[in-house]
Amino acid sequence: MNINENEIAKLVSQVLQEMTGGSSASSYSAPSAGGAIPKTAKVAMMTKLKHFEIQEYPIPELGDDDILVKVEGCGVCGTDAHEYKNDPFSLIPVVLGHEGTGEIVKMGKNVSKDSAGKPLKVGDKVVTCMIFKDNPDITMFDLNKQNVGGADVYGLLPDDDVHLNGWYSDYILIRGGSTVFNVSDLDLDSRILIEPCAVLVHAVERAKLTNILRFNSRVVVQGCGPIGLICIAVLRTMGIENIVAVDGNEQRLAFAKRMGADNTVNFMNHKGIDALSEAVKAAFGGYYADFAFQCTGSPVAHSNIYHFIRNGGGLCELGFFINGGDATINPHFDLCSKEITLVGSWVYTLRDYATTFDFLKRANAIGLPIKELITHRFKLEEMNEALETNLAQKGLKIAYIAP
Ligand SMILES: [Zn+2]
Repeated sequence: MNINENEIAKLVSQVLQEMTGGSSASSYSAPSAGGAIPKTAKVAMMTKLKHFEIQEYPIPELGDDDILVKVEGCGVCGTDAHEYKNDPFSLIPVVLGHEGTGEIVKMGKNVSKDSAGKPLKVGDKVVTCMIFKDNPDITMFDLNKQNVGGADVYGLLPDDDVHLNGWYSDYILIRGGSTVFNVSDLDLDSRILIEPCAVLVHAVERAKLTNILRFNSRVVVQGCGPIGLICIAVLRTMGIENIVAVDGNEQRLAFAKRMGADNTVNFMNHKGIDALSEAVKAAFGGYYADFAFQCTGSPVAHSNIYHFIRNGGGLCELGFFINGGDATINPHFDLCSKEITLVGSWVYTLRDYATTFDFLKRANAIGLPIKELITHRFKLEEMNEALETNLAQKGLKIAYIAP
């Protein structure tokens, strides 16, 4: 075969043109996914209390540091339910949804790695965490620095002229300066559960600071909603096996056992705190707990839990994600004379977020039914129903799943 130089040059320029989509000065380094990106995106905009409506907005031009993500799903959080019911953050109109995940369909030319240094490309599955606001106390790898509480996250941002700010949508625009993680090695359900699981990875890290939590510790977990159930799973993946779950719902207690609880106590069956603490003690074979995790938002539950803990034991309070009111304790009996070591826990650090990806792989590998936490799935057009289902406390984790 004999191709002359002219023909070669022609072929090369033809190939180059195909690669750049025919334009000589494309602003994006990455090819778009099959050219299938629509011009507009749909969002479920909460326009007033207890009311989402589907709105459509043009997908804006990407900046050099931005990422366009096609949403695959997003969990409904208790925070979303509070916002839906009462708008405590005064965000209306707002696109909610912060427990989301999806696939990169387009990236600005400066984007090449995620926040942990892993390469990023079109087609990768990602989650976001907080949006950096030049706060040096929030860093990726220093465990002693502060958690991301109060930081901006997608899904809890006021509306702006981009509009694609929450995961209850079919596309979200991740702007430069946001944390983003490549989680292509996790399935969709696991990715939807990353954010709530990070809350428990952090709580257990906080608990470890007391130096009380050990392999053979007796641990009580009070509250078997998604947070308590995931708490049991995190403890179980760490090799802690002597776990007693406390709740008032038999179905949830049955799930707690499958998640790794050794024994359960239904507080509905025991009148008064003395009878209840005796039941917890009996569930441990005649001992009080070395350590307790308080995973409900109930002040009474906070007051009660001290009675389940042995002298010199520890407590992690993480149930009060929002202000649930005051709880009464007796400082002499509950704290001083028992020498309880108490830690509070709220949200997570960026480091915990990355640790959570490995936790999910371990939990799946040892057969914990983590993914069964997602009990209800809704379409974008059904977000009102999704939030009503959460408010009615039906099921465990409610999720929006994109088609
Ligand atoms: Zn959440």
